[in-house]
Amino acid sequence: MTYFFETYGCQMNKAESAAIEQMLLSRGWASAPSAESADLAVINTCSVRATAETRVYGRLGWYAGLKSAWAEDASLRGLPSRPVLAVTGCMAERLLADFKKRFPVIDYVVGNFQKSRFGEIAQSLEDAAQTNAVPAPVDLDAEPGAHGAAYSFSPVSLEPGAFTAFVPIMHGCDNFCSYCIVPFVRGREVSRPPAEILSELDQLSAAQVREITLLGQNVNSYCWQGDRALESVRFPGLMRRIVNHLEAGDSPIRWVRFMSSHPKDLSDELIEVIAEERRLCRHIHLPCQHGSTKILAAMNRKYSREQYLDRVRKIRERLPDASLSTDILLGFPGETGEDFDQTLSLLRQVRFEAAFMYYFNPREGTPAASMPGQIPLEVRKARLQEVIDLQLAITREEMAKRLGGEAVVLAQSVSRDNPGELLGITEQNERAVFAAPQSCIGSFVTVKLAELTGNTFRATILSS
Ligand code: SF4
Repeated sequence: MTYFFETYGCQMNKAESAAIEQMLLSRGWASAPSAESADLAVINTCSVRATAETRVYGRLGWYAGLKSAWAEDASLRGLPSRPVLAVTGCMAERLLADFKKRFPVIDYVVGNFQKSRFGEIAQSLEDAAQTNAVPAPVDLDAEPGAHGAAYSFSPVSLEPGAFTAFVPIMHGCDNFCSYCIVPFVRGREVSRPPAEILSELDQLSAAQVREITLLGQNVNSYCWQGDRALESVRFPGLMRRIVNHLEAGDSPIRWVRFMSSHPKDLSDELIEVIAEERRLCRHIHLPCQHGSTKILAAMNRKYSREQYLDRVRKIRERLPDASLSTDILLGFPGETGEDFDQTLSLLRQVRFEAAFMYYFNPREGTPAASMPGQIPLEVRKARLQEVIDLQLAITREEMAKRLGGEAVVLAQSVSRDNPGELLGITEQNERAVFAAPQSCIGSFVTVKLAELTGNTFRATILSS
């Protein structure tokens, strides 16, 4: 039996696709080179922006073409059509009620709280393959919104052959930022038991993984309530447990990253843990979204410009060698020129090493979509461009300060532009390209940061 995955969206989606793939591999399935040749095709969808969903509608049209070609092919008449198409992820969760009715090409709509049912779908296809019969449908029968504590974490989310891995530690979000669909499709925050996380780390260590990223929509609010009333583990405590466990097992996992953080929950204690534990990477992604306290309130971000800057000050003080990146959202309803200037001045003040920047898009089902004061598209685009120009200049100036210095890099892959060179990532999450044999891929090497091309270092290898 074979499978084919199309995964869109965030790291959590990538981790969940890898987990389903691991489950199929453990049943003896193999990856198919294309959807056409697969028994099961899975589209793992994203709903964070309308454009992400539009792309999936396009793919469904393509699969409909594939299935009608199968139906018209006389040589295949009577055989169960392939691939069986399952659509999962946030769009599937958002449209759970009538997605299949609207798109009959879909065989299974698997919501975010039903991913553990993929085993049953695999079983029904395996049974049918025995006799070349049409697979008996699995009744997923899910009520929209029937989620919450129902989320089940997978035992391991490692892509086959990978040396880096995402490790989901929590799921869902209770913050309800007014522009965000995530709380409506991922439900309430659920924290994964520490023991389960440590057992996954043992599997990843055994697979010679070198770097992990702890995942959650808001990892800083991780809180595991143990059986005994007083026993609760918060994020800093979990980080200590993880580092101690890796040390005790002499694990090959050398770098531990985490995302996403919410500024209101980033504690001094966490900053202390990062300062003390060398396996914890000196890179923090801290989405600020905007520089105006008025707009932050309209976004329901639950912190002010001053409170955000206080976190930045604390990080810069205690972790001077750490890089800071962020998310910036422009053109939010009600944003005036002054508010926009506040964002420009915050970027100049903080000097992030990197930023993900985008303009506001009303998201159906979120409060901000119907807020007064919607900003015209051309203004949103113009403000985004101005911020991109400013931030790119800051990024290059900050990276240029590192030139001439040494850095440890995890060699990730062969450089796209030159097969004789490798692309690697520094602990500070910067890209570096350097000449080295492909045998270095998956290893830590020390390089000298020689030049800057765009926002990628050109480096020379010192030791491997
Ligand atoms: S913190 Fe806000 S932006 Fe992030 S997932 Fe939660 S609701 Fe969405």
